[in-house]
Amino acid sequence: MLLIKNGRVLDPASKTDAPRDILLDGEHIAEIAATGKIAHAIVAPGFIDMHAHLREPGQENSETIETGSHAAARGGFTAICCMPNTRPVNDNASITRFIVDRAKAFGHVRVWPIGAASVGSKGEAIADIGAMRDAGIVAVSDDGKPIASAKLARQIMDYCRTLDLPVIEHAEDVSLAAGAVMREGIASTRLGLPGMPAAAESVCVARDVQVAELTGARLHIAHLSAKASLAQVRFAKQNGLRVTCEVTPHHFTLIDEDVTYDSRYKMNPPLAAREDREALIEGLADGTVDAITTDHAPHEPAIKDVEFDKAPFGILGFETAIGLALEQLVHSGRIPLMRMVELFTTGPARVLGKDRKLATGEPADVTIFSLDRPWTYNVTESASKSRNSPFDARAFKGGPVATIVAGKLVHQH
Ligand SMILES: [Zn+2]
Repeated sequence: MLLIKNGRVLDPASKTDAPRDILLDGEHIAEIAATGKIAHAIVAPGFIDMHAHLREPGQENSETIETGSHAAARGGFTAICCMPNTRPVNDNASITRFIVDRAKAFGHVRVWPIGAASVGSKGEAIADIGAMRDAGIVAVSDDGKPIASAKLARQIMDYCRTLDLPVIEHAEDVSLAAGAVMREGIASTRLGLPGMPAAAESVCVARDVQVAELTGARLHIAHLSAKASLAQVRFAKQNGLRVTCEVTPHHFTLIDEDVTYDSRYKMNPPLAAREDREALIEGLADGTVDAITTDHAPHEPAIKDVEFDKAPFGILGFETAIGLALEQLVHSGRIPLMRMVELFTTGPARVLGKDRKLATGEPADVTIFSLDRPWTYNVTESASKSRNSPFDARAFKGGPVATIVAGKLVHQH
């Protein structure tokens, strides 16, 4: 039994914003009762991060399911989806089962694997999606790269429609992005680094939206970064297509002008232009964006701490997500707190075809966070095995306080 007393409960599913006591009995919520006390900490349904890289199997020097899920718990997440670009790639049921079993044995939070869309994510043949679905995947993606062709995307979407699985697309036109290490613009010119235009993303989004229309499939655009891509998603939604998208904290916080020769500013899609960032925040506010995801992408120093153009793409994300969302979206007055909670809970849950709410009988997954606790992110104290964050030493106002998964306190500040 666990009692959460005097929390300010924020539950997007029931539109509740009121002080409540919540009693957890084992893995489920036993009772929610009104309380007259003044509430301080925010008590929300368990946060979901539907885009992360846990590097196991194959790159355990950078992260493991144990360390990655520990970092997720510290960041306030109760459930995370892991992308299939491990070594070997999660493109068959035996790898999916390995991940599910490791997560059960060592995971600090729920781990929901995403299977590869094509064999080896090579973009040639469709993967054994049906068998992976039976083993526990919640979506498919060739993340790290786009689905190689419109024809293959059609085949994958046709098949996933029959299974009712979302297809998650890393939208990138590889011909437009070839050789680029950041966004093309004044900043890339100034740094003398090869850049990719925003169209490297939006051209692929346009292709996929049309294939989603052709097939009737559920299409989800990963780490959307460009204004033009968002316009495609908005258009698709207005036309009744089952198209959704996610945005990362680094894309609504930083822009290409923030890039230095420090490889901690190198990610894919790259940090975008100021007007893209503005558009993303508008999309987060108006409902065009469905989820905030971290794209947590740990890389050990031996491979990441090298020259900018040689370093791999990606940064840590779990432990700074709530702090950045509060800073950029809520404290700035750009979006209401309830909407921020929605983007971490019911938003991604809906994309994955899951429920997320605080109600009697529901799973006891709860994220508790503060709106005002001052703290500084120190990456050397991260639970991740890697250290590649551009937000090291950043001071935050508000952040994770406690994370509860299936009635168990997995992190407490
Ligand atoms: Zn990606």
